[in-house]
Amino acid sequence: MTAEPVLPPPTIHRAGLRPTDLKVMPAEQQATLDPYMRLIVGNRKSGLSLNHIVGCPLDCGYCVRHFWGNFDDKVPQMLVTTPEAVEMLVAHPEFLPHTTPLQLFNKATDPFLPGVKPHTFAVLEELDRRGLSNLVLIITRFHVREEDMARLGRLQYIRPTLLFTYSGINDARVEPIAKTSTTVDSIRTAAAHRGNTKVILYWRPIVPGWNDDPDTMAGVLQVADETGVDAIVFTGYYHKEENATYLRDLGVPVPYADNWQRRKVLPGELDASVVQAWRDSGISIPLYRKTSCGVTAAWKLPDYNGHLGVPELCDICPSEQVARCRQALKAPTPDEFRTALEMFGFDPDTPFLIEDGHVLTAKLGEQRRYALQHYFGYQVWEVEHPHVHSAHGRALEGYTLTPEEQDLLEQARERLAASARHDDD
Ligand code: SF4
Repeated sequence: MTAEPVLPPPTIHRAGLRPTDLKVMPAEQQATLDPYMRLIVGNRKSGLSLNHIVGCPLDCGYCVRHFWGNFDDKVPQMLVTTPEAVEMLVAHPEFLPHTTPLQLFNKATDPFLPGVKPHTFAVLEELDRRGLSNLVLIITRFHVREEDMARLGRLQYIRPTLLFTYSGINDARVEPIAKTSTTVDSIRTAAAHRGNTKVILYWRPIVPGWNDDPDTMAGVLQVADETGVDAIVFTGYYHKEENATYLRDLGVPVPYADNWQRRKVLPGELDASVVQAWRDSGISIPLYRKTSCGVTAAWKLPDYNGHLGVPELCDICPSEQVARCRQALKAPTPDEFRTALEMFGFDPDTPFLIEDGHVLTAKLGEQRRYALQHYFGYQVWEVEHPHVHSAHGRALEGYTLTPEEQDLLEQARERLAASARHDDD
């Protein structure tokens, strides 16, 4: 890796941000945001996600906000007030009390930034006041203190999980916060004072040349072991033009070719070396490939994304969790699927085909597919996005579609088309 330039301190220090109340972004400024940034409640793979605060000063080079032209918004601002946001969440047609997994501020800010944290707690406490017991995923890399854990511990109904993004990267061009002990200190504090809150080491992004050397991997695993987190979840990096360009402009080598990907990249070899490093470490903290697997296993629940429908994901999962998922995994009947399409207000003519471990659909779009997947705890796939054996739903960079797999994709298209024709009969 090339020598690191001397960087100014992270924006959070430069801007002197203090826990003052956030401002609501003026309407004319909101009108200039990318529609995805303006989307306050939307489905993501790991849950229905509330994002009414936009802006982050942490400057992580691979940040997803690059994709929506928001990376330069360093000061968090609200799109609506927090009480309005909670109403929008619970009134959302895909929100089901006690059932729908939720995510908080996982798209456009960090929920433990000084200005954002009061809103994180306000949302959690309002959901709790309503007696809602939904799982809530909260992803952070910032300061979490003992008093924060005590406050989380006072929640009676809502079930929070803290996921600490910690990659072992020490290149400040990629992660300015990596030069501090902030995240490791937070993991330690959270795990030591977790009460009913679950604590996960979110090992990401893992990228060849950045943090895949044996010492760095062993260091991350050691943090997990020493702190006694409930689980480790590992994953790769979103390889898109915007963040790759940003990183390359800083002199950071980005190891993948310029075929941009809609899913995270984690080549098969890298997956194998992560699993091997974990096995070699001998630690007892379980390792998962999927966020919802780590979260649900920590709560002793079956995975709400039904990943057992892709059984090669589960070879590292503890046997008692596999048993839980196996017992829960049940394909919806065609009537149940149609009823769910209607309940959520989706196109009732959506073609679908229930197969072993997944439902094949066409043109539902991610937002609707994820709502159905969470509802049934069963994988719902788009026919045009093939799941390649052992790519684990990740980008196909590092995997090659064999002629047989190309055939399988063609066959899936044909099966779905045939089932739609059959429905027309
Ligand atoms: S059994 Fe499979 S689907 Fe269930 S939590 Fe484990 S890895 Fe995930």
